[in-house]
Amino acid sequence: MQYEGNINKMRAEQANPVKYFLPIGENEIEMNQLIGKKIKMNFAGQINCIKCGKKTKTSFHQGFCFNCLQTAPEASESVIRPELSKSQFGIARDLEWAKKHDLADHIVYLAVSSEIKVGVTRFSQIPTRWIDQGASFAIKLATTPNRHIAGVIEVFLKNYFTDKTNWRTMLKNEVAENVNLQEEKQKVIHLLPTELRKYINPDSNTTIIEYPVQQFPQKVKSVGFDKIPTIEGVLKGIKGQYLIFENDDVLNMRKHNGYFLQFLY
Ligand SMILES: [Zn+2]
Repeated sequence: MQYEGNINKMRAEQANPVKYFLPIGENEIEMNQLIGKKIKMNFAGQINCIKCGKKTKTSFHQGFCFNCLQTAPEASESVIRPELSKSQFGIARDLEWAKKHDLADHIVYLAVSSEIKVGVTRFSQIPTRWIDQGASFAIKLATTPNRHIAGVIEVFLKNYFTDKTNWRTMLKNEVAENVNLQEEKQKVIHLLPTELRKYINPDSNTTIIEYPVQQFPQKVKSVGFDKIPTIEGVLKGIKGQYLIFENDDVLNMRKHNGYFLQFLY
């Protein structure tokens, strides 16, 4: 089979294991069926901005041209740093966009992809966000009415937890053992200042996520289309937004949003 088109980050469906689909042009490739098989991807140098569609030499912030990086609401500062969201004061790059995205319910969570980390996402992005990070376990901590408050809680909790995913450790599947997220959540409730405790989410279930991986890499070797125009090999699994190949190469698909690829299997 052969497909051609601009790719976007893989769409994930929660299942045991997670089901992945790669959007390419007008199509979507069912990725799980390719595990154990040889795949080949060619990049001839064309990148189209995922916002405006224009050709761009360089992709900024996972898929934007330079102009959209500076103007698109999807590339606002508050996307990376939720506490900087000012939508609640009516200040945003695009207020209509902000109403749907920043002024919607948000979740502060703890997730374990290698060690415990704290994170923030829009309510509707659960569990997609956890899957994109390659988390094995996750628990909801708080529900807030906007992005800013979620960010304030996250900033407070960064005193106790990291907010970064160690993607190499995540890909090797070196997941912290003996972590009890329900206990961690109880600790968080005691740590939080009183005025933030009212946002605690009552759902104390731990979500367990399993990925379609036959073999985890021993030594992670990251590859990308900017340096290697043809990437091919036997696909051994998918975790987070990474394809894992037989020779321990790993490819971050999300980093290549907007890249025009030829995909063969
Ligand atoms: Zn653009």
